[in-house]
Amino acid sequence: FAPWSDPDAKPYIVFRNVTKRFGDFTAVDDLSLTIFEREFFALLGASGCGKSTLLRMLAGFEEPTAGEILLDGQDLRGVPPYRRPVNMMFQSYALFPHMTVEKNIAFGLRQDGMPKPQIAERVAEMLKLVKLEKFARRKPHQLSGGQRQRVALARSVAKRPKVLLLDEPLGALDKKLREETQFELMDLQQDLGLTFVVVTHDQEEAMTMADRIAVMDHGKIKQVATPPEVYEAPSSRFVADFIGNVNLFEGPVSEVDPSGATIRGADGFAIHAANAGTARKDETAWFAIRPEKIRITSQQPEGAGPNSIDGEVWDIAYLGDMTIIHVRLDSGKVIRASMINSARGSDNPLTWGDRAWISFAPDAGVVLTN
Ligand code: ATP
Repeated sequence: FAPWSDPDAKPYIVFRNVTKRFGDFTAVDDLSLTIFEREFFALLGASGCGKSTLLRMLAGFEEPTAGEILLDGQDLRGVPPYRRPVNMMFQSYALFPHMTVEKNIAFGLRQDGMPKPQIAERVAEMLKLVKLEKFARRKPHQLSGGQRQRVALARSVAKRPKVLLLDEPLGALDKKLREETQFELMDLQQDLGLTFVVVTHDQEEAMTMADRIAVMDHGKIKQVATPPEVYEAPSSRFVADFIGNVNLFEGPVSEVDPSGATIRGADGFAIHAANAGTARKDETAWFAIRPEKIRITSQQPEGAGPNSIDGEVWDIAYLGDMTIIHVRLDSGKVIRASMINSARGSDNPLTWGDRAWISFAPDAGVVLTN
């Protein structure tokens, strides 16, 4: 499933040069974006970056100040929310406290005047979908947070919208339940064959669930890509830093040639990168490398040239599945390296205060220029 890399794929949701201003504040800034049918799409960004505003414009709760939004070829301007084939699930769930689970799920269907037998059938189907058949007669206060969340989901897909919008859908759940529910949401999306657009500030959540992620900042999109792409090939320091952990080495580019680029790191060592990216000689660039791509050894690696430097083990954290080691270079910069723990436990041979060498392959990181 990768319609975004198929030039013939039909765009489904299109934001074209969309701007939203509140007074003189620009919440969404000339933003263009295409989402494909049946995609699980995540809008990811820090609080205030404009992601909810984007979602609300798609739902019809806000109109763009400029630009257009198309759904399946239809211009949505002026189309009221209830006429859009879109439904929104809010973080607060907004379940009716005095109604049973089944009445909550049936609510929208009854409002639409669906015949009773059909409602009963649809509600049963939805209860099965979210595995709450046994809870049909309960009221929201008799359910756990995760169960309430599933009722809200069932209710928002009961009318069979074409697009489900989810604004921080798992924000109220604790970490473990949130993770479980992420997988449930993915299964549900697959089963229903709907297009999901989720807003989240949690990069792990976006990485887990989404086919593609749009990383947003100040009303603009910084990058749209699949989870492996945003992680392995971030287009900017902002994205590299927002998604996961990263080490950034800054310096002037001393050489660019077919074998890559050399950056004279201010931290006292030369970095040779296999891919120069957009780097230009004598300009500043950054080499971005993930912690798990860094080798860490107690001895100087064989034939150490560029891409290796020594420092002091600053601290070590054992996290069960992996161990994180911070190495402080003589420049004062602290490098984060991580290693996956093996079946035997941690393979880390180092202790605090040891001298240690960090090194990495020329293709282990990316060169960034903005
Ligand atoms: P959060 O995760 O905190 O909801 P967000 O990225 O979803 O953040 P938005 O809710 O889209 O951000 O808001 C973007 C900016 O627009 C914020 O600075 C917010 O204060 C502002 N904003 C949103 N709605 C309005 C409004 N109705 N009137 C004025 N300013 C608004």
